Amino acid sequence: MTRLLVLLGDPVAHSLSPRFQNAALEAENLDARYIALRADGSDLAGLLRGIARAGGAGNVTLPHKGIAARTVEVSTEAVRLTGACNTFWLEDGAIHGDNTDVDGLRGAIGALLDRPLDGSRSLVLGAGGAARAAVLALAREGAATISVRNRTRSRAERLVEEMADGVAPTRLEVWTPVPDSGRVERSGEGPGMVVNATSLGLRESDPLPLDPAEMPAGSVAMDLVYAKGETGWVRRLREAGWTAADGREMLLRQGALSFERWWGRPAPMDAMRKALDSSEATP
Ligand code: NAP
Repeated sequence: MTRLLVLLGDPVAHSLSPRFQNAALEAENLDARYIALRADGSDLAGLLRGIARAGGAGNVTLPHKGIAARTVEVSTEAVRLTGACNTFWLEDGAIHGDNTDVDGLRGAIGALLDRPLDGSRSLVLGAGGAARAAVLALAREGAATISVRNRTRSRAERLVEEMADGVAPTRLEVWTPVPDSGRVERSGEGPGMVVNATSLGLRESDPLPLDPAEMPAGSVAMDLVYAKGETGWVRRLREAGWTAADGREMLLRQGALSFERWWGRPAPMDAMRKALDSSEATP
């Protein structure tokens, strides 16, 4: 019987996940299909439970990762600490949930950086679900301090309040302009990573999430947003001599980790990467 895998979110039409997940299913000769389903928040819990109990599994994306975290019955530590779930499946009769964005981002950081983040000071732009995954990923990579900078300061304050204990001994703080800015390092703290976890960059006309002139010296930049031909922020940073990458590597790696949760076997990364690269070549 064909197994149903879904992406639940709103909007989902633009998502590249169906392309590389179906390529993975084909490469592994699995009788299953991955489809994107636009879902209202009020329908999310029912859809997730029904699909999982019928033997299916899936991903959850914006804006429903929080509802998914409250719906699954067995949560990983990543779900508990971020309050967000992007992957669900049925195991031993219970609906399990994970947040593979965290380890997906850790993998992407490893692919970009040629040094560990141990003892570093990093800056996260944004305070939504992606920012929460970024905070946990940076903490698990050994960041000494993480500053969270967000348009709506109260949301950054809430993130820090809710996550500070869970990421200790990493120090988590709300970014404040001067003198305690992302540019100033405490003694013993090296330069780390600047992560764009805002939605700025989805449209070519968006302002940059951070002016390159404000980049902390020695940092590298990771944009969680991805766009055809890379995001404007990544292009501008590279032109100015910074090391920077967009969100494609994280997208691929979180998808591969989801595949592994659903099937209990390694994901065919080459086939997934090929599908992702070729899907970007088409308008
Ligand atoms: P979210 O919960 O809606 O949060 C959006 C964030 O962007 C908030 O911090 C918001 O600030 C900020 N923002 C929105 N418009 C802004 C503007 N005009 N100026 C300044 N800040 C603005 O979304 P999310 O789930 O965290 O996702 C954020 C981004 O990460 C999305 O683009 C998503 O595609 C990307 N993402 C990528 C991957 C990947 O695998 N590469 C995985 C997950 C997410 P306020 O709080 O002030 O509204």
